[in-house]
Amino acid sequence: MTENKIDLLGLTEKELEEFFLSIGEPKYRAKQLFTQMQKGLAPDEITNFSAATKQRIAEAAYCHFPTVAKKLVSALDGTVKYLFRLSDGNCVESVVMRYEHGVTICISTQVGCRMGCRFCASTIDGKVRDLAPSELLGQIIAASKDLGERIGGIVMMGIGEPLDNYDNVIRFLRLVGEENGVNIGYRHISLSTCGLVDKIYELAKEDFPITLSISLHAADDATRGEIMPINKRYPIGELLDACRDYFAVTKRRISFEYTLIAGKNDSPETAKRLADLLNGKLRSRTETMPIHVNLIPVNEVKERDFTHSDKKAVARFADILEKHGIRATVRRKLGADINASCGQLRRAEAGETADI
Ligand code: SAH
Repeated sequence: MTENKIDLLGLTEKELEEFFLSIGEPKYRAKQLFTQMQKGLAPDEITNFSAATKQRIAEAAYCHFPTVAKKLVSALDGTVKYLFRLSDGNCVESVVMRYEHGVTICISTQVGCRMGCRFCASTIDGKVRDLAPSELLGQIIAASKDLGERIGGIVMMGIGEPLDNYDNVIRFLRLVGEENGVNIGYRHISLSTCGLVDKIYELAKEDFPITLSISLHAADDATRGEIMPINKRYPIGELLDACRDYFAVTKRRISFEYTLIAGKNDSPETAKRLADLLNGKLRSRTETMPIHVNLIPVNEVKERDFTHSDKKAVARFADILEKHGIRATVRRKLGADINASCGQLRRAEAGETADI
């Protein structure tokens, strides 16, 4: 039973002190529990807590870590994909990627998603629920414990829309920044959004020096509206205004994700249009906002009828952006042999799609 009980992993160290005082325990226990929880230990596993202390904790609170329901390791590049089971039985995916500069984890922010992007597997059956701050953090702790490795970076690019779970994501960012926390710097954290404009303005004010990543995927409203329903609520112009504000406030560079779909958004004319759009909306003679576009050939999802652009089209697209002063990189595909992109493993587990 977790009803009305306190979720310990979702508390800051200070809040944990108050918790211990409230159950008649000394507040110095907070540091010990907080530090051990970051390593994946629950209160009843902490050896120098007495049975009576453990009992008092258990009566008032709980601490759950996601458990590994499935784990796939890429033979090609060591990418590890987890299907984590949460305490209520729902599953989410996290992916651990190895880069030259360190180990980064891609975490999920919701069970499912309600944004409805047409190329995305995570949204096919809508949103089931938001993840709690402890479940966001728990993915990092559980993966790090399982691998026996330190994780140095986080991307919120798994299942779900982080800005549609705003309050929990903000609390999670606070927890990550705690002095005795998981010890991952904000500069090594990025948040990817399909473009919830009102929340981008709010996020800018929070003062976390994280990188904002915008899933743009089109250079005009008609095309974007067709593949991303959110564009009807927040069209491109408004989205880029919010990006401009985010940069003005935080001075953090923004990166744009652009999924290339054959015959839909990958022509040379579109590349030129994208460059003009970004230069026109985000740069002026006095401002030189660094803009980076990440090109991703669409990952073909069985339920969707999109085909990825061929190598030549991708290179040509990147080239045109570069010629117009926009840094463009083609996303290196990691974990190709384990289908590391998110959304499909959870669906397979739920029996919704036969093969992955
Ligand atoms: N909801 C957030 C984060 C999760 S999606 C967002 O929209 O940004 C992470 C990234 O994967 C987004 O850029 C998303 O557009 C992209 N994506 C989703 N499905 C994809 C697919 N089939 N192929 C390539 N990229 C995809």
